Amino acid sequence: MNHAPTKLNIESKLFCPRRSCIYHQSLDKNITKDGAYKTKNDGVVRQMFICGNGKHRFSETGYCDLFGKHGSFKEYEQMCKLSCYGLSVDAIADVLLKDTRTIATWQRGVSKKANVFHDVICLSITLTVLFIQMDELWSFLKNKNSQLWVFIGFEVDSRFWMNFELGNRTTHTATKLVTRINHYIGKLSRVNPLKVTTDKLAAYKNALQSVFTDIDYVYLQIVKKRVKMRLVTVKKCFVKGTEDDFKGKTQNTSYIERFNLTLRQRVSYLQRKTLGYCKKKANFTDALWFNLYEYNSRCHHKSLRLPLTVPDMSRFQKKWIHRTPAMAMGLTQEAFTWRFLFVTPIPVTH
Ligand SMILES: [Zn+2]
Repeated sequence: MNHAPTKLNIESKLFCPRRSCIYHQSLDKNITKDGAYKTKNDGVVRQMFICGNGKHRFSETGYCDLFGKHGSFKEYEQMCKLSCYGLSVDAIADVLLKDTRTIATWQRGVSKKANVFHDVICLSITLTVLFIQMDELWSFLKNKNSQLWVFIGFEVDSRFWMNFELGNRTTHTATKLVTRINHYIGKLSRVNPLKVTTDKLAAYKNALQSVFTDIDYVYLQIVKKRVKMRLVTVKKCFVKGTEDDFKGKTQNTSYIERFNLTLRQRVSYLQRKTLGYCKKKANFTDALWFNLYEYNSRCHHKSLRLPLTVPDMSRFQKKWIHRTPAMAMGLTQEAFTWRFLFVTPIPVTH
């Protein structure tokens, strides 16, 4: 009864979002559902709640206190979608007829909520992580003389983008990423050791050794040798564990490399041989959080679809159940919308 109206597999606790209320953001159990209403502008049904102790009602849109209330939900959604096509703030402001600073504020708000949301859902359920691939993408910061690297952790079986870290190409950055991933992985006893593959960068080895101290894992480095840009040899080098622990045909880093391509196309800061590289690190982080939500929770991933066993007898036969990475990970049963992110009751500190 006290649960939020979610399609999530976790229970998120309701709280009072009204700032003037003395129970603001306290996780009191006195918030209950209280009907629904529709506005004339958009036909979307809004859930109403009642704050028992404060004795007032509020709408689920109250949980969307992210970015000032100078736009409509439709505009927020459009802004989010445009951001994920790699458009700049100026371009989005032009399309939506807003000030660039307004769009920047909205983006900051949404990315912060996407970040908190990701942490909350990943920490609420012990993720079943079987196979991690890690890689780093190269970009610039401010000018083409200073490099910025994006370290990415990726779960292969569910295609779940676990987390990322921005920084130099050092052990320090890799350790930060591995530490975050370590928080998400449960300390459950596993049947098979956790499989990890990366390229030959020593930073991963150091990071894994220092962080994964009580996790049983097998670590494989894929060493690629290139001569004049052409791939000559691929050497597989077991740093921890042996071939017996690592069965199957997946002794590669192909999945994350394919994912890197997706990301390079969606985040304009990562597009190569352009002048679109990042001028401010915070904007880069924002763009990545947008894309993390989009990729994990909104988009159906084609290789994750499952065939329908019961044939659909309607005229347009449905053959597949489409899934998002978050669904494959068992965090939810449905794909989310941007609107869902806005109205999910999660306190975000500003
Ligand atoms: Zn209240």
